[in-house]
Amino acid sequence: MKTSLLILGVLGANCAFAASVQLPTLPLGHDRTRPLPPVVNPGQPSTPDQAGKAPADAVVLFDGGDVAKWVAMNGEPTKWIVKDGAMECVPGSGYVRTLQCFGDCQAHVEFATPKPPHGSSQGRGNSGVFFGLGRYEIQVLDSYENKTYADGSCASVYNQYPPLVNASRPPGAWQTYDILWTSPRFDAAGKLLSPARLTLFHNGVLVHNNVELIGDTGWVTRGPYHAHPEKLPLALQDHGNPVRYRNIWVRELGQPGKPEFYLADKVLDGFAGRYQVNQDWIVDVTRRDGNLVFKWAGENFVTFAMSPNRFFAKTTDVQVEFKTEGNDQVAYFSVGEDGGTRAKRLK
Ligand code: MG
Repeated sequence: MKTSLLILGVLGANCAFAASVQLPTLPLGHDRTRPLPPVVNPGQPSTPDQAGKAPADAVVLFDGGDVAKWVAMNGEPTKWIVKDGAMECVPGSGYVRTLQCFGDCQAHVEFATPKPPHGSSQGRGNSGVFFGLGRYEIQVLDSYENKTYADGSCASVYNQYPPLVNASRPPGAWQTYDILWTSPRFDAAGKLLSPARLTLFHNGVLVHNNVELIGDTGWVTRGPYHAHPEKLPLALQDHGNPVRYRNIWVRELGQPGKPEFYLADKVLDGFAGRYQVNQDWIVDVTRRDGNLVFKWAGENFVTFAMSPNRFFAKTTDVQVEFKTEGNDQVAYFSVGEDGGTRAKRLK
């Protein structure tokens, strides 16, 4: 009797478990009409002496040429230098960030810590790869025979998760991070809907398996989350050591969309003002945090930069392009089609 009850109990528990798991609904098995995956040239892996090539569908952020895709955190030109095909941190020059914003993505970053090494613990070959515009750091450090605290060692999620193993190469040797990043999601009121997630391979070795971040990373303090847009720039840390980087690329995941760029506040402020199409048609452009907002036809459209002078809304197919024509600052507003209506900024 007791055995029967036990079996029934186990069966009941299994049924309850089965009912609570939502599995995806797939097309017919071997469906001949199912779209084939797009073809992507996978590029070339790096060798110790030669940087590799990014997959064909990646956004290449640095390929040994120039730092055109990077700026200082305030949007000014960066003082980091390019030397021998590598982008090098100039101590004291500050972090660098990408102009383009990224949300969920696969990212590839290569770095080399200084040889010969200087300093010890956190003072030796320190830098970092940041998601969320400086909020979430994957530590870069010379952790080759250099003891420090576990959650600050190379490939740690700083002050949160040590790597599963220390797969570091010696100072001066090129190392790789292959990162799968899932951005945190927030609702309109700023409440956390889902946390950031990270999977990381360091030199090809798995060191984080889909870990859940508990909020912003930081020295001494950790978390909580502070609401932010899903897409933000990547950044690299200046921690006072001349760490070098090469072969940096990102593949955006999730829904395809327009590229988004993070422009400095003063650039956005330069576009703000009252634009007049004609006597009856006025558009007010203001800045709200990192976005331009258009008040048009009684509606407020929050827009995102798709280039240094073009913006789009995500709720309606509304776009605007700013230009200087002679002495006039003008904007071309368009809805649903190309071209646009010219509006001149009032003095
Ligand atoms: Mg660091």
